[in-house]
Amino acid sequence: MHYAPKSIHETTKLYNGVEMPWLGLGVYKIDQPATLTGAIEAAFKAGYRRIDTASVYENEQGVGQAIRRLGIGRDSIFITSKLWNDHQKEGYDASMQAFEDSLERLGMDYLDLYLIHWPQNGYSVTAWKALIKLLQDGRIRAIGVSNFSPAQIDELAEATGILPAVNQIERHPWRRQQPLIDYCRSKGVQVEAYSPLMRGRFHELSELAAIAARHDKTMAQIILRWDLQTGVAVIPKSSHAERIRENADIFDFELSPTELEAINALDQDRSILGPPPVNEPSS
Ligand code: NDP
Repeated sequence: MHYAPKSIHETTKLYNGVEMPWLGLGVYKIDQPATLTGAIEAAFKAGYRRIDTASVYENEQGVGQAIRRLGIGRDSIFITSKLWNDHQKEGYDASMQAFEDSLERLGMDYLDLYLIHWPQNGYSVTAWKALIKLLQDGRIRAIGVSNFSPAQIDELAEATGILPAVNQIERHPWRRQQPLIDYCRSKGVQVEAYSPLMRGRFHELSELAAIAARHDKTMAQIILRWDLQTGVAVIPKSSHAERIRENADIFDFELSPTELEAINALDQDRSILGPPPVNEPSS
């Protein structure tokens, strides 16, 4: 399927009708308050309307403070946070409490999107029931998952009748994840790419240089555009204003089908993160 958003303000409509910006700012590892405020300010000025945080990033408080300090209205920014593994494994009440704690740190009274950060076999259905209750109570506008396989998504849906609205996954040219994306799309689950710039290792993809030169864009911009044109929302992280602007300057050109195919062909099913943190926090 071919998408071609032409403005940073375009959104993808989640299956429950909530509009989610295609592009967001990831803030993993941005923990200094001044850096966080600078990054969020640069992002907002460049047109980003979405921030991706998580309790395990330990910067929810800084995100909330930055938004208030910058005078950004709550309803003009889409905030995602995530339920960490420990709380998920502690059960329903702990999952509810973890959500309340995230909101309190953010200084907000609702979240736009709340995700189960990593599947924890034997525990995720209970946590999912907690998220459904929070959704029904109007505390969260949309609920989803991260790092879930088709079988793990099926398990949630079979147990509760409610599908995640989003699956946030590692996705970049070395890890295209097409079968998982196809599965999610068949169920109406929006996929979004984390670590889209391979944590900076995209520079190793010399194959992208010619495509970048042809469009007078950078290799980072080519990858982010590839995500959008393949229907995948994307949340690149940067703490530098000029890169934050660069990563948003991807709405004025289009990759051809041949160029999209050339990027698809770089797939090695290769993770840049290492094994999933079943018991150990990473991101
Ligand atoms: P990214 O792939 O977004 O890469 C970030 C790195 O690339 C940083 O070192 C950054 O440097 C650098 N960078 C950013 N833009 C450019 C550019 N234009 N040119 C050159 N270098 C650039 O990695 P992340 O792992 O941070 O993924 C993005 C977000 O996804 C996270 O911040 C987090 O919100 C989310 N995430 C979710 C996970 C999950 O399990 N759900 C797991 C991992 C991430 P600098 O900051 O110095 O500019």
